Amino acid sequence: MSAETATEVLAIKYAETAVAAREHFMLPLGSGGNPHAAPNADPHEGPHPISYFLWLIRHPQGLILVDTGFGEAAAARRRRTLLRHPVEALKAVGVAPEEIGTVVLTHLHYDHAGTLACFPNATFVVQARELTYAAGPAMRHQVCRKAFDVEDVTEVVRTLYAGRLYPVEGDRLLAPGVSLHLIGGHTNGLQVVRVETAAGRLVIASDATHFYESAAEKNPFPDHCSLPEYLNGLDRLFELTDDPNLVVPGHDERVLELFPTRPGDPNVVELHRGPLGPTPFAGVVLPPVREP
Ligand SMILES: [Zn+2]
Repeated sequence: MSAETATEVLAIKYAETAVAAREHFMLPLGSGGNPHAAPNADPHEGPHPISYFLWLIRHPQGLILVDTGFGEAAAARRRRTLLRHPVEALKAVGVAPEEIGTVVLTHLHYDHAGTLACFPNATFVVQARELTYAAGPAMRHQVCRKAFDVEDVTEVVRTLYAGRLYPVEGDRLLAPGVSLHLIGGHTNGLQVVRVETAAGRLVIASDATHFYESAAEKNPFPDHCSLPEYLNGLDRLFELTDDPNLVVPGHDERVLELFPTRPGDPNVVELHRGPLGPTPFAGVVLPPVREP
């Protein structure tokens, strides 16, 4: 069996909340990315759900965890509903944290890079740009640091000094069929993960597109460090695959309905099997260029 057909990818939901849609989108939903379009029926004010995920790649060469989520303290501080601690969520799919050899941190926001200390045997792979951003001069501005947690960033620096952090610059091959791609935009060093699966080239987009509308309507998440980089990143996601339905948003609850559920757990879906039908990305016109 080839690495592609043997690789499994799970999306595991561990937390949720709902806030006003204007906190998730710069433009009214349905405006098609045009700031001058008349707002439709969506008042841009109603509660909009956000789901928090971990992604687990079961590769023939070992387990790769994408992001580590947050625990009880961050959930209480930020008033998020923690359905189960990320470690418990992994145990529910039969994985002990000690078994994880590689953790990819897509970026260092609190909901992606908490709980590092729970993974004693892991090497953490992060973009060098993210490290220097999260521990650098921009963090004196509250609006830049608000989604970072200083305790998480401190723990990242501890893993660096312990020789367990592997910063990369740009795109890298992590394992046969698994690659990292620097996107930036949302944070300076945001990276996404592409996985060759039996269903095709799957893109774990993380916060390069929080929701289906973010990329389908080019309706940016309001919290970003470079808007042009963010918008270019929306296109780049679709340069990474031949099938737009295989781009998986970082926080959209519909992922749980669109992909096959893991038997017995409605909060876990098997992304490697492909979606059950067309996703909201089905109509996205693929860009004229592809990434190799
Ligand atoms: Zn996030």
